[in-house]
Amino acid sequence: TLANKTAIVTGSNSGIGLGVARELAKAGANVVLNSFTDREEDHALAAGIAEEFGVEARYIKADMSKGDECRQLIKDAGGCDILVNNAGIQHVAPIDQFPVDKWDAIIAINMNSVFHTTAAALPFMRERGWGRVVNIASAHGLTASPYKAAYIAAKHGVVGMSKTVALETAQEPITCNAICPGYVLTPLVEAQIPDTMKEYNMSRDEVVKNVMLTRQPSKEFATVEQLGGTTVFLCSDAAAQITGTTISVDGGWTAL
Ligand code: NAD
Repeated sequence: TLANKTAIVTGSNSGIGLGVARELAKAGANVVLNSFTDREEDHALAAGIAEEFGVEARYIKADMSKGDECRQLIKDAGGCDILVNNAGIQHVAPIDQFPVDKWDAIIAINMNSVFHTTAAALPFMRERGWGRVVNIASAHGLTASPYKAAYIAAKHGVVGMSKTVALETAQEPITCNAICPGYVLTPLVEAQIPDTMKEYNMSRDEVVKNVMLTRQPSKEFATVEQLGGTTVFLCSDAAAQITGTTISVDGGWTAL
C-alpha cells in the first residue's frame, strides 16, 4: 500500500495521467493532479478522487512548458514521494516542414519538464529517504515513425534521462524508470475513431485494427488502468531493484 505517500502526476486532468493518478489513489497514495488550466472541473477531478478513494487529492495549476513553473509545482505540493512525469503533446509533420514553435513546445513539455520536476523533487525524496520517479515515455522512446521528429527526440531523451537519474540515485532508496506505452485508448484517441471511420468507410473495428493498431501485434489498445497498474508496481517493494530501465506496455510493438 502507498498510504502516507504523496504522488505528483503531471498532465493529469485527462487520459493516462488521470488514469495513473486514480490507480495510485486506489493504492492509498495522496495525489496531486496538474495541468496548465485552472478550471472548476480540474479541481472537481481532485475532489472526486479524494471522495472515491479516501485519500488527499489536490489540483495544482502549472504549465509544464515553463521550467520555473515545473519547479514551482513541486514546491507548491511540498515535495513528493512519487513523481510521475506524464504531461505530453504531439505534432505530426515532415521534418523540413516542422513548425519551429511546435518543435520547441514538444521538447519543452515532453522532455525539459522531466529535467525540471526531477531536479526539484529529488531533494525532497532524499529528505524522506524514499522515492520513485516514473516517466511516461512511449514506444516512440525506443523506436521511430516518420513525421514525429520532435516527439521521438523528446521521448528518446526521456528514456536516456531516466537511466542517468537511476545511476545518480543508485545507492539510495530511490528508483527512476520509464514506462513505454504503445497505443492507449484515451479520450483523445477515441475522438479520432468516428472521423477515421468516415474517411476510410470502415467499421470501428476495422479502423482500430487496420489503421490505428497496425504496429501493435495484440491488436488491442493498452488502457489507462494498465498504465496506472504498471506505475503502482514500480512503486512497490517488489520493484525496489528495478531502476534505469523501461517497461513496455505496448501489446508487442517493440518485439516486432
Ligand atoms: P492527453 O492529451 O489525454 O493528456 C495529456 C495531458 O498533458 C493532459 O492532462 C494535458 O492537460 C496535459 N498537458 C498538455 N500540455 C501541458 C502543459 N503545457 N502543462 C501541463 N500539462 C499539460 O494524452 P495522453 O494520451 O493521456 O498522453 C499522456 C502521456 O502519455 C503523454 O506524455 C504521451 O506522450 C504519452 N503516451 C500516450 C500514448 C497514447 O496512445 N495515448 C502512447 C504513448 C505515450
